[in-house]
Amino acid sequence: MTNAEKQPIIKKCIGCSNIEGEVCRVWFSPATKWRTGNCPSATHIKRELSEPEQKVRVGQQKQKKKLG
Ligand code: SF4
Repeated sequence: MTNAEKQPIIKKCIGCSNIEGEVCRVWFSPATKWRTGNCPSATHIKRELSEPEQKVRVGQQKQKKKLG
């Protein structure tokens, strides 16, 4: 396959290390990969973690009540 057959990268690809000249070396059509979200092969983005910040909880000491 020659590069001429591939579709050019898009703006969102800029910074990705899979860029080869004006095309992507992984995907035929970069625009398609980005259409529904982040490109799964992008090296320049971090996966956005949806998990909330985990706070370290200070363990509550259980109070032992002496009965009687
Ligand atoms: S891997 Fe994804 S982000 Fe990187 S150049 Fe290819 S299409 Fe663009």
